[in-house]
Amino acid sequence: MNKSIKIIGAGLAGSEAALCLARQGWKVRLYEMRPEVMTPAHQSALPAELVCSNSLKSLRLDTAAGLLKAELDRLGSPLIRIAKSCAVPAGQALAVDREQFSQKVQAALEAEPNLEIIREEVTAFTDELTILAAGPLISDSLMLALSEEIGKNHLYFFDAIAPIVDADSLDRGKIYSKDRYDKGEPDYLNCPFSRDEYYAFVEALLSGEGHEAHEFENQFFQGLKFSYYENCIPIEELARRGKDTLRHGVMKPMGLEDPKTGQKPFAVLQLRPENRELTSYNLVGCQTMLRYPEQKRIFRMIPGLEKAEFHRFGSIHRNAYLNGPQVLSPRLCLKTKPELYIAGQLSGVEGYVESIATGTLLAYILDQGLELLPQETILGQLWRHLIEPGEHGFQPMNANFGILPALENPPRDKKLKKELYSGRSLEALDKYLEEKEILCPS
Ligand SMILES: Cc1cc2nc3c(=O)[nH]c(=O)nc-3n(C[C@H](O)[C@H](O)[C@H](O)COP(=O)(O)OP(=O)(O)OC[C@H]3O[C@@H](n4cnc5c(N)ncnc54)[C@H](O)[C@@H]3O)c2cc1C
Repeated sequence: MNKSIKIIGAGLAGSEAALCLARQGWKVRLYEMRPEVMTPAHQSALPAELVCSNSLKSLRLDTAAGLLKAELDRLGSPLIRIAKSCAVPAGQALAVDREQFSQKVQAALEAEPNLEIIREEVTAFTDELTILAAGPLISDSLMLALSEEIGKNHLYFFDAIAPIVDADSLDRGKIYSKDRYDKGEPDYLNCPFSRDEYYAFVEALLSGEGHEAHEFENQFFQGLKFSYYENCIPIEELARRGKDTLRHGVMKPMGLEDPKTGQKPFAVLQLRPENRELTSYNLVGCQTMLRYPEQKRIFRMIPGLEKAEFHRFGSIHRNAYLNGPQVLSPRLCLKTKPELYIAGQLSGVEGYVESIATGTLLAYILDQGLELLPQETILGQLWRHLIEPGEHGFQPMNANFGILPALENPPRDKKLKKELYSGRSLEALDKYLEEKEILCPS
C-alpha cells in the first residue's frame, strides 16, 4: 500500500488525521493556508485553532458529548489527549486554554518525522490520495474547485439549524400527531396554540436576546447569491415582519384540527421526527440566532414543550458543508473521486469534537480499513448520518442521544437512561474493535 497522503487544512480534523496517520507510518503532507490567507474567524497561524468557545463540552457519560469523547479515547485520539492536558477549570466540561492547546498540537505535529507542514493555500485537487479538511470557512478558490467536482447543488453554505428536543420530554396530553389535511402518515406532532399563547410566544421571540451577527457573517450575508437564503431566516426575524407572519407561514393551522376538540387551533408549531425510532423531534421552522438560555425559555412556551429537554439548540452561521448522503461513499470519500476523502465540519458534522472525530475515523478507514461502526455508538451514528439519506433532507449533525437507537426497556430516570446509552455504546465499540482486530494506540 502506498502510505503517502496530502491533507488540506491544519484545523481540528486535519491535525487529528495527520497525527494519527503519521504515527501509523504514513508520509503526511499537511497544507495550511494561514497566515498567508486567513479565514474570517481564525486569529492565528496555529493549527487546531478553536475559533469561538474554548469548550469541548461535557466529559460526563450521561451526556452525548461525554460519550463521544469516551469513544474517541478508546480510539486513542491524539487531540482529545492533548485537550485534556491543557484543560482549564470548567466543572464537568472539557474547556481548554486555547493558545496552549494549539501550541501543543503544533509541537506534536512538528515532532513527527513523517509529517511535513506546508504553509500554502491549495486551490485545486489532484489525483493524489487526499483528505480535504478545510473546514466550514474553506477558501473561496478551493470551494469553487469543490463545487465543480460535486456540483453546486450538493454544497451548502448556511447552517440554519432548528432545535431538537427529546421525545420523552413532550407533553402528549397537549400535543397530537396529524399530517396536514390527513394526506399522509401522521408523522408530524402538532403543538396547538390559543390566541393568547401565540401572541405571548411572538412577543417573547421579539424581546429575546440574540447573538450579534459577527462581522464575517454580515459579509457573507451581504455577498449572498443563493436562493435558499429565505429558508434560513431566523424565526425571530420572521416574527419581526408582523405579529401574524408566523401563523400565516410556518405556524399555519390549516388542515391541522385538534382531534380532541375538532377545532382548528389559532396557530400550530409542528415537530418533525429526527429519526426512525421517534426518540427526538425537530422544531420545524425554528432556526434561530437567539442565545441558548433564551431558546430554552422561549421554546418552552410552546404548548406541550413546557418541560422539553433539548438535544441541540438552533443556530445560523456561515458553514460550507456537503450533502454527504448524495456525494460521499461509505468510506467518506467522494463517489466521483474516490481518492478525495472529506473530514471535519465540511463533511456535515457539527462541532469541534465531532470534527476531530471524522479525522480519527478517516485515519482508521485509510490505515486499517475500518468499516461502519456499530449503530449503538455515537461515532457510528454520526458516520451513518453522513452517508445514509434521511427522509427530510440533510443537515449537519452533532453528538446527541437522539441519534442512537432507543433502549429496549428505558428506565424513567433520565440520568440513568443516558448512562445506559453510554454503557451500551462503549461495550458495543469494544466488542467491535476486538472482533475486527482493529489496533488502537494505548
Ligand atoms: C464562526 C464559527 C464558530 C464556531 N464555533 C464553534 C463552537 O463554539 N463550538 C463548536 O463545537 N463548534 C463551533 N464551530 C463549528 C466547528 O466545530 C468549527 O468550525 C471547527 O473548527 C471545524 O473543524 P474543521 O477541522 O472542520 O475546520 P477548521 O478547524 O476550520 O480547519 C480548517 C483549516 O483549513 C484551512 N484551510 C481552508 N481552506 C484552505 C485551503 N484552500 N488550503 C489550505 N488550508 C485551508 C483553514 O485555515 C483551517 O485552518 C464554529 C464554526 C464557525 C464557522
